[in-house]
Amino acid sequence: MSEQHRPRIVVVGSINLDLVYHVPRLPQPGETLTGTSFQQVHGGKGANQAVAAARMNADVSLIGRIGDDTFGAALVVGLEAEAVDASHVKTSGGTSSGLAVIGVADSGQNCITVIPGANGLVTSADVMAAESSIAASDVLLLQLEIPVEAVITAIRIARNYKVLTILDPAPALQTFPPELLCVDVVCPNESEASLITGLPVTNVAEAVVAARHLQSLGAKIAIITLGSLGCVVCDESDNPRHVPSFPVTAVDTTAAGDAFAGALGFCLAQGQPIFEALCFASAAGAIATTRRGAQPAMPRLDEVNALLKPK
Ligand code: ADP
Repeated sequence: MSEQHRPRIVVVGSINLDLVYHVPRLPQPGETLTGTSFQQVHGGKGANQAVAAARMNADVSLIGRIGDDTFGAALVVGLEAEAVDASHVKTSGGTSSGLAVIGVADSGQNCITVIPGANGLVTSADVMAAESSIAASDVLLLQLEIPVEAVITAIRIARNYKVLTILDPAPALQTFPPELLCVDVVCPNESEASLITGLPVTNVAEAVVAARHLQSLGAKIAIITLGSLGCVVCDESDNPRHVPSFPVTAVDTTAAGDAFAGALGFCLAQGQPIFEALCFASAAGAIATTRRGAQPAMPRLDEVNALLKPK
């Protein structure tokens, strides 16, 4: 791929720091325990998907917000180290950056507290200020960890400029504004798809029915990811397809969906057909499960190509 033809992707979404502590067991209310280790891991669905696409060698720009704390500054340094353009990441005074405080017990049990912080302050005006970047992009990638109004504004702008829109509707919303589904591609996991459609999604056949329902609600292409069962897609050809997953030894499925969405955005920005794009995205998702953490688990282009190469 030459420099001029690098796909351009804009992501509008969340930026978080995961503060992960390990303890022999989870504490009871009021109890103080001694932990065994601690890590800071860069995360947030928006930032994860931006890093996933950047590791594929796409030109990626992220629109979002951090707080005026040391965490926020470190998160931006991390994005820039991954070659993600953070010039549209604004700083909100008087609030923290998005944080997830995650306790992990020896048994594998965890407890998580998410503080949206500055992610909750992303506005439609922030998105409008980046209109020219969206207009110049091939793909707009969205999730739901920021206010829904900002997401809808981004969809409207992208549609005006005929930029391909991909929505990963995570985390699921209790009330789902219909305009969110006026996108080219929607890619929920099984529980999100079930919540949006009100249908059961526990296997491939049910996922096809739910995907068709998502299309009837406005999405041109509906993909439902099913973890180790792979994913299904319904596109405009009325020919639903199942894409099996790649067999790997999964150690941590955190951010598999983000690796999948970032890689999907990369392929569609290059104009690849949907089925090829989904095979590539599935390989990216599979690799992410073989490593711990969010952004550190995102695969690189050569790793995905190696998994796709026939043995
Ligand atoms: P989310 O993280 O949003 O819940 P999924 O768990 O469905 O998303 O994962 C997204 C994609 O990543 C799946 O469709 C699949 O291709 C791949 N994937 C996820 N878990 C595994 C696994 N255990 N083995 C292989 N591939 C996986």
